[in-house]
Amino acid sequence: MLLYVRMMNWKRRRKSKGKDREAYDINMERGEIVALAGNPNVGKSTVFNALTGLNQHTGNWTGKTVDTAFGKCNFHGKDYVMVDLPGTYSLMAHSAEEEVARNFICFEHPQATIVVCDATCLERNLNLVLQTLEITKRVVVCVNLLDEAKKKKIFIDLDQLSKELGVPVVGTSARSKKGLDDLLMTVEVLTKNSEPVGFQMKYIKPIEDAIAMVEPHLSKKLGQEWNSRWIAIRLLEEDPSMMEELNRYIGYDVAQDHVLVQRLNDAKAYLESCDITQDSIKDKIVSCLVITAEGICTNVMTCNKVCCHKRDRKIDRYLTNRWTGIPIMIALLALIFWLTISGANYPSQVLSEGLFWVQDRLTDFFMWMNAPAWLHGALVLGVYRVLAWVVSVMLPPMAIFFPLFTLLEDFGYLPRVAFNLDHYFKKANTCGKQALTMCMGFGCNAAGVVGCKIIDSPRERIIAMLTNNFVPCNGRLPPPLLEKQRMHL
Ligand code: GDP
Repeated sequence: MLLYVRMMNWKRRRKSKGKDREAYDINMERGEIVALAGNPNVGKSTVFNALTGLNQHTGNWTGKTVDTAFGKCNFHGKDYVMVDLPGTYSLMAHSAEEEVARNFICFEHPQATIVVCDATCLERNLNLVLQTLEITKRVVVCVNLLDEAKKKKIFIDLDQLSKELGVPVVGTSARSKKGLDDLLMTVEVLTKNSEPVGFQMKYIKPIEDAIAMVEPHLSKKLGQEWNSRWIAIRLLEEDPSMMEELNRYIGYDVAQDHVLVQRLNDAKAYLESCDITQDSIKDKIVSCLVITAEGICTNVMTCNKVCCHKRDRKIDRYLTNRWTGIPIMIALLALIFWLTISGANYPSQVLSEGLFWVQDRLTDFFMWMNAPAWLHGALVLGVYRVLAWVVSVMLPPMAIFFPLFTLLEDFGYLPRVAFNLDHYFKKANTCGKQALTMCMGFGCNAAGVVGCKIIDSPRERIIAMLTNNFVPCNGRLPPPLLEKQRMHL
């Protein structure tokens, strides 16, 4: 519901055109604009806070309800406006966060974009770096958490990484404020000099051919100011938000440009002839990015924990295997339900005995006071008894289920559940991530519905929000002993 209200607010604001930045307008701030992008939990806010000295403001960017912080930073007498973009894994605009980050980097032309990466899982982070490099070459890669990487015996050759990516790379340990001066120095050099050459992402031949069919026309129409190659790829993916933003920021209505529409149709027909459908083009693009990131990472990273990775991969082979993955998942979830249902009976019984002992004492008190029967009925048999019943029946299963669920999350098992079930959920036009929110729904439906915000696609999110209500949450589960207690009540 909350999400729905936020979405409606967002839509309403968008109608009043995005130029009216509500909470702040960085144009009023003077200085070079530097965007900070990165995956969630890579220390982006730590870098931002260290650079701006917590001198920050938050606001919604171009009508979005996604918080974006900005703050000032002075280095060598020059002012910089740091914009902390929302943490995202990609810039493919699957979610409001990704859309905000993408639009800022693409349409607001920051003088530099710092992409903060986690040194302990560089390969995953490089995906965002490569996507950012597709939009702009004014990038500084900040490899953060170097201290953690060192502890895990992971070594990253920063010079080699810089050579591979064609942009400056700085290593930092933001928590202990190490490397931040280097970072600012690199940003200073980048903002003074012309754009670096930067890494050029290469896709498989049919996609490159399709880009070549569309890009020249876009380049002619949009000029040098906008990255026509990147826009061509988004249009080939039929990204609806991209078309909207082009109209909004540049005033370029794709649908009205008949030559472009014709070229896009030809390019899509060509892709179809190469067995790349509209549904699969995104997957092909993502897999090219992943393979490229893997290749770069192999060249720059050495890790002494081979055995550990090997063990992880071995375990993964069983947990996500077609034949063993589902039985293991059913067994694990059944164990959690068994622990929740039968385990909750004991604290439930103790709680109900205690709370109903108090009810008897309250009854004695009302009798001693000679209170009228209606007052005793309303307060003790009504309000108190319902409260006692709800607490004794619902609290113990929740107190057992959620910690166990969190444990599964901490072990990294939940993404495996989503992976195993994705295929089956797809058949119902939803995605595997819904399985996680459904599981949460067994603990509490409200948590199951609110948790749907992890689902990227708005359509799949709405389906999940509507169907998760049918999961029997613990208040609706009829465990035998609790049932007995209810009868007793
Ligand atoms: P964000 O989600 O990317 O904004 O990440 P945060 O800035 O909130 O940082 C996530 C966690 O990583 C916090 O607990 C930080 O204290 C911690 N952190 C950030 N930078 C470093 C670092 O360089 N070394 C270590 N060990 N921890 C860090």
